[in-house]
Amino acid sequence: MINLILFGPPGSGKGTQASNLVEKYNLLHISTGDLFRFNLKNNTPLGEEARSYIDKGELVPDAVTIKMLKAKVEENPDVKGFIFDGYPRTIPQSEALNEFLQEKGEKVSKLVMLDVPDEELMSRLLNRGKTSGRADDLDSDIIQNRLNVYKETTFPVFNFYLKDNTSVKVWGVGPLDTIFQRLCLEIDSI
Ligand code: ADP
Repeated sequence: MINLILFGPPGSGKGTQASNLVEKYNLLHISTGDLFRFNLKNNTPLGEEARSYIDKGELVPDAVTIKMLKAKVEENPDVKGFIFDGYPRTIPQSEALNEFLQEKGEKVSKLVMLDVPDEELMSRLLNRGKTSGRADDLDSDIIQNRLNVYKETTFPVFNFYLKDNTSVKVWGVGPLDTIFQRLCLEIDSI
């Protein structure tokens, strides 16, 4: 089973690349951002709880996120593997994922980070804000907050998985299909 973490800052292209990877490798794509947005749109209790954090560019508390992630994995017992996109974003989320996979006799196969410079991220996100309908893409202060949270709280996850040689970086600037090829090389070597 492949358990791939697609990692990187907001705007690094995880969502775009994940949909290409799903087609090629036949994995289930789990995006915590998409799951939260689904709940926001449908005004579920989970959405209500998450809204205030997401709109400010903060992370939703770990307990909420971990529970949602586990439920999604449990709902899909028969898949060939997973692409985790936007999860884990904190060390406790990483520990929870490891433990959870271990209970199933599984582990994280690889963490692939899409590496993109800050200036490029800011301009991609502001640009996406024109059409995405996402409140967190409209305001440069909120975007800056997301980039800061990434550096302070999320980037340490890269080093957490580097300890057992599970983390790699892939250059995330260039034509989409070139970046896709770089990702495929990493997945093919699992
Ligand atoms: P981005 O485009 O910033 O990478 P996502 O679409 O993955 O964002 O997520 C949007 C928002 O949902 C995040 O800014 C955060 O508030 C919340 N979120 C998503 N995944 C997580 C997570 N693993 N832990 C906590 N909050 C999360």
